[in-house]
Amino acid sequence: MTSPAFPHPRSRPLTLPRTLLAATLLLAAFAPSHAAAQAEIGHTTIVDNTPATPPAIHTVEEETRHIRKHSLKRLNDKLTVEATTLELGCKYESDIATAPPPMHVALTFDDGPSPQGTELILGLLKKYNIPATFFMIGEKVEKYPELMALVRASGHQVIGNHSWDHPNFHDIGAVEQGDEVLRDEAVLAADVTTKLFRYPYGNSSCETNQLVRARGYKIVGWHIDSCDWAYDKTGSVDAREAISCGVLPQYRDDYVGHVVSAARARKGGIILMHEIHPNTLKKLEQIIVAMQADGFIFGSILDADFQPSLR
Ligand SMILES: [Zn+2]
Repeated sequence: MTSPAFPHPRSRPLTLPRTLLAATLLLAAFAPSHAAAQAEIGHTTIVDNTPATPPAIHTVEEETRHIRKHSLKRLNDKLTVEATTLELGCKYESDIATAPPPMHVALTFDDGPSPQGTELILGLLKKYNIPATFFMIGEKVEKYPELMALVRASGHQVIGNHSWDHPNFHDIGAVEQGDEVLRDEAVLAADVTTKLFRYPYGNSSCETNQLVRARGYKIVGWHIDSCDWAYDKTGSVDAREAISCGVLPQYRDDYVGHVVSAARARKGGIILMHEIHPNTLKKLEQIIVAMQADGFIFGSILDADFQPSLR
């Protein structure tokens, strides 16, 4: 199967003036800090000197740089590439077009296990009796067995496959993509009752969609990007990053406000967070409290009402 099983309403071609305006704004915003970014009128190109294959176990800073790069590329693609072309290439399977169950939210934490995050997050989930899903990177699973033991001991937390070492699947061949899935599957085999896969950076391919579905996986994207990676150490997002991740101006210094506002806009849904990002670790409790006060109910992506949102 070479076409995605769901439409991408957000990736419909924009009207020309808006497309040019948005692309120009985007590129103008990024130009000062991305010397290699280039704009060509009518044909937009973004060049980034980040290596295609990231090193194993990257630092938070390295990983943030990669997420930023891929977030920018995704936005650029959606502004400049025909929606049908993106759909035929199965490139952004992780964008969930399906409406979430009203006012239900499901937390997901990617890129662990991590010494800085796993235990803290588990403690908060236990305190508030909230389920979550952890999309684990195989090489870290192997490196931190004691953290995996904590997640396993927590009982009701769900574990999913997030590849072996988190490459961009748009940069590697189908065979290598398959290896990434299967190596992580091998170290997670004992943990997985329902097979769930999340693409690194949300960057998908037709070949791997086919592979994981044949192996019984559901592909898990997100309705709400917390943009935890975009907020810096002081808890702020600069104007460039805000454009890239869709943070409204009034929330540029308010990570909690951004997540709650984004959840309100989608009326619930699967929330993407990263257990390696300091803003999530610092603010998760406030987010939980604020969302509960706002009437959101925390559930699991395995709940029946989230099934239509899985692929
Ligand atoms: Zn990731």
